[in-house]
Amino acid sequence: MNFWSKFLSSTKPRNAKHWPGLIHTYRDLLDIDNKTKVLTLCEGNTPLIPAPAIADTCGVIGLSVYLKFEGANPSGSFKDRGMTMAVTKAVANGLKTMVCASTGNTSASAAAYSACARSNGYSDVQCVVLVPDGFIALGKLAQAIIYGAKVVQIAGNFDQALNIVKELSQRESIALVNSVNPDRIEGQKTAAFEICDQLGGRAPDILATPVGNAGNISAYWAGFKQYNALGLIKNKPKMYGFQAAGSAPIVLNEPVENPETIATAIRIGNPASWKTAKEAVNESFGLIDSVTDEEIVEAYKLIHSSQGVCCEPASAASVAGLIKASKQGKVERESTIVCVLTGNGLKDPQTAIDVSGFAPIKSAATMDAVASAIGL
Ligand SMILES: *Cc1c(COP(=O)(O)O)cnc(C)c1O
Repeated sequence: MNFWSKFLSSTKPRNAKHWPGLIHTYRDLLDIDNKTKVLTLCEGNTPLIPAPAIADTCGVIGLSVYLKFEGANPSGSFKDRGMTMAVTKAVANGLKTMVCASTGNTSASAAAYSACARSNGYSDVQCVVLVPDGFIALGKLAQAIIYGAKVVQIAGNFDQALNIVKELSQRESIALVNSVNPDRIEGQKTAAFEICDQLGGRAPDILATPVGNAGNISAYWAGFKQYNALGLIKNKPKMYGFQAAGSAPIVLNEPVENPETIATAIRIGNPASWKTAKEAVNESFGLIDSVTDEEIVEAYKLIHSSQGVCCEPASAASVAGLIKASKQGKVERESTIVCVLTGNGLKDPQTAIDVSGFAPIKSAATMDAVASAIGL
């Protein structure tokens, strides 16, 4: 059986159901009691998309590659998984102000779930986000604003913003909703649960993911370990984490003071979850490596043009890393691999236009002129 027929025969048609969000779905496996009122935008249940063209590009025999498309979450990134938990619990504990530092997606998500809290009767919940001035995709900034957050652009980078909000959150009634908040990691574990469920009760051989502040790779590993301990899967994946070469502190084994990369969502020089990310890689016999902006852009174009999937540049680091690891012989034949596409490409259309060198074909407004312009 080929890749597609294997995939199609493993899925049941016409079983669409209402998905109540990830807390209701996985409540028994999460650190939340039954009385807590859940704030949800029905996040999670994101598609696991077969990616035969990416498997071909890897050039290793018999690979099954899937894309876990986290851009399908309500605010367009995996951050919603952590945020439904973090805001639910913060509000239940009587906290009123959600604060975070962000390269964009955390702020969009925190702002969305704060609005969700207001719609659930917590009318005095507000959201404050600190973003680095000038290095945030426009779509993400637009989301934070229109969801009603107070947006503060600081004259500094993400790492500085995180230090400020950590200090700020010592004050009364303020909840820090960055991934240093354990509730964030708790919610993000559910992506690992979903992947195992979607693969029919097993983990992939390799889980490839971009690494920024390193919370997500830590959360995935915690999720796979938990499913394994419960006997719901027999195997555990190798964790392959990828940083951008211009902001690769974990790979270099030292903080990067001025991180630089086109992948702004992972432009982080001193990751908060550094230690747990290293543990995830070591315990799983995985690897952590860097990919250049050129490799990221190439993978970003490939994901769009050969698979029809729309992700942001940071997300493409997982695919770029998988391709690099394949060429280096670090991917075994017949492996099943999941690349996490962390965020939706629509947040950052400017990068899509910039890297594709878009130049429209001009034509007079007649059928003949159009036909000849396109070479028919
Ligand atoms: C936040 C984010 C990352 C990095 O995740 P960490 O948990 O900080 O490592 C990667 N890609 C996108 C699109 C993100 O929003």
